[in-house]
Amino acid sequence: MTAQRDLLQTPIEFLKGVGPKRAEVFQKEFDIRTFGDLLHYYPYRHVDKSHVHHVTDIVEEGGYIQLRGRITGAQVLGEQRAKRLVANFADETGSLELVWFNGIKWVQELLQKKQEFIIFGKPTLFNGRWNMTHPEMIDPDAQSGSPVPTGFMPLYNTSDFAKRKTLDSKAVAKLTANLVPIVRNVIPETLPDDLVKRLNLLSLNEALCNIHYPEDSQKLSRAVLRLKFDELFFLQLKMLLLKQINTQRIPGHRFDTVGHYFNTFYKEHLHFELTNAQKRVIREIRADMGSGRQMNRLLQGDVGSGKTIVALFSMLIAKDNNFQSCLMAPTEILATQHFEKISRQLAPLGMRVEFLSGSTKTAKRRQILEGLQSGDVDILVGTHALIEDNVVFQNLGLAVIDEQHRFGVEQRAKLWRKNIMPPHVLVMTATPIPRTLAMTLYGDLDISVIDELPQGRKPIITKHLYEKDRLKLFGFMQREIDKGRQVFMVYPLIQESEKTDLLDLMAGYEAVTRSFPPPRYGIGVVHGKMKAEDKDFEMQRFAKNQSQILLSTTVIEVGIDIPNATVMVIENAERFGLSQLHQLRGRVGRGGSQSYCILMSKYELSSEGRKRLNAMVSTNDGFEIANFDLQLRGPGDIQGTQQSGMLDLHVADLAKDEKLVAYTRNLAMEVLEKDPLLEKAENRRLREKVAEMAHGEVDWSVIS
Ligand code: ADP
Ligand code: MG
Repeated sequence: MTAQRDLLQTPIEFLKGVGPKRAEVFQKEFDIRTFGDLLHYYPYRHVDKSHVHHVTDIVEEGGYIQLRGRITGAQVLGEQRAKRLVANFADETGSLELVWFNGIKWVQELLQKKQEFIIFGKPTLFNGRWNMTHPEMIDPDAQSGSPVPTGFMPLYNTSDFAKRKTLDSKAVAKLTANLVPIVRNVIPETLPDDLVKRLNLLSLNEALCNIHYPEDSQKLSRAVLRLKFDELFFLQLKMLLLKQINTQRIPGHRFDTVGHYFNTFYKEHLHFELTNAQKRVIREIRADMGSGRQMNRLLQGDVGSGKTIVALFSMLIAKDNNFQSCLMAPTEILATQHFEKISRQLAPLGMRVEFLSGSTKTAKRRQILEGLQSGDVDILVGTHALIEDNVVFQNLGLAVIDEQHRFGVEQRAKLWRKNIMPPHVLVMTATPIPRTLAMTLYGDLDISVIDELPQGRKPIITKHLYEKDRLKLFGFMQREIDKGRQVFMVYPLIQESEKTDLLDLMAGYEAVTRSFPPPRYGIGVVHGKMKAEDKDFEMQRFAKNQSQILLSTTVIEVGIDIPNATVMVIENAERFGLSQLHQLRGRVGRGGSQSYCILMSKYELSSEGRKRLNAMVSTNDGFEIANFDLQLRGPGDIQGTQQSGMLDLHVADLAKDEKLVAYTRNLAMEVLEKDPLLEKAENRRLREKVAEMAHGEVDWSVIS
């Protein structure tokens, strides 16, 4: 067993054909350090060389194909750079043209010696005729030098840099061809034998060999299935186990009183009626925090559904039980807004609310930290700055995280350590996550959903306009402003070139000031490069309706709540992702007046871009948008999941493998039902694998 592990741990440098230079490229570009790492570097697809086809089999978008036939003539055409060798290739069903731009001489010599070939390449249609450039030419009578003379050829993703260093797909294929025979039969199994048997799965060993060099197409699909199975099954097993540990073993502060603060605020200071969904969720949270177990709850609700007030009531319950709370938001603007709103709302109750961010001045920071330690501060609102180690509470009972998708599991774990007994954790997200994704991503959390908007909200009207409609747009903005309303105009941020982004924003600013001349109109600008206090100043001006139009980059994307703003104009809307567009649209339609979202785009759009904008025009429902997004882009791209490393899926696809997600989840629950902490001998492999995956995410001492 250990000898086998050791083999997979062998540094990649020692694989035949690698050496120190390529090893460095592997490590730098793909994080491949060992034999095992390369084994898990799966091809993105295979070309089927297992069949020899006929010319008449060629279809459009058919991809690579292998043919057998004769060369029936060849000539050199063109001069200098346009010089090429064109040959006619025919089998009994038809013919096509083969073209070479390089190595002409070598091919000419080859064709003189021989006329019959097996050729391999990707046909394209050119001037009504099939043609193949630089085909691979295989002598049907000789053994080919390629690792699989017939069969499936793996194709690997590599990078430009790696290619320059000679590590292209073909080179990687040669290396995996060297690797597979060495590791065959020594790859340790991760599933219990009887499970593999019962589900008729390939062994991990067979799967990993066949994913690179499949024996046949059936083996390939079974290999893919086994690897997808492992990814989904273990991810969910880990999540469910974490959840189990949290609920069974980790006690929580028992908040059994709902008293003065909660009741006073509810009776005297709440200016609207809570929606039924809000009431239900508050009850769920109350029950959870009163149970004596630690709460780990995700609160999902579309933009504008009123999550903040739910957080506020939760924090009031903490206060009623003599505990402190904190509320963490992903951007300074959003954190500031929360702080202002909450301190205003709680001022009549005499509670102390403070704000902490990276830009809090030293003297003020010291004062706050003292207040936290003495227990004088009831609620701390802020950014990431809250999770720094020097922020110490006297008695933190509840941590709320707004717009969770910006935070990873690790940051959540950091909050836990803020008290001897971990605080209750409430994470809130407006990114509507489709069910399958939520089940997997947040499998360790309980989920509450606000599925109802506050009364009297009118659905936002979304329109898609082109540049030629700009006058119409300005006219429309004018009418809204005359009614006393305000307008957001958002410009995309392209990370590669922040300068051009600002230029876009500045050009927009000039155009807008020409049509809406100050001082009659107040026009504000906010972008990521501004100092926090300048941003804050502009936001305040807009919040107080001293400016009517706010131009910004996407810094206002999440959370901002200015009910008097009724128009959201998104410039170059085709450059935004769907969930981002939906988030931005959610900045309006928060008061009682009819609101509008105007998507500006150029006329020519990619088909995907057009689909996104059409989706926005056709629905206001965040869940529909999210499902659409998942279909369009795949879950790896869903905002935040990638950066925060929450998903580690290589072959499985949460959108397409929905059934397998559900199946593996049920199976994981079944296993844990019989053996809650994976202590039985038959589950030893499962436990080892999960422990390896969860490394660093949880204190495993609690289950060992
Ligand atoms: P989100 O869920 O997007 O974070 P917010 O909590 O910012 O939404 O709430 C959006 C707006 O709706 C805020 O102005 C808030 O005060 C208001 N609001 C919340 N709940 C209700 C309600 N039940 N009735 C009326 N307005 C509400
Ligand atoms: Mg919010």
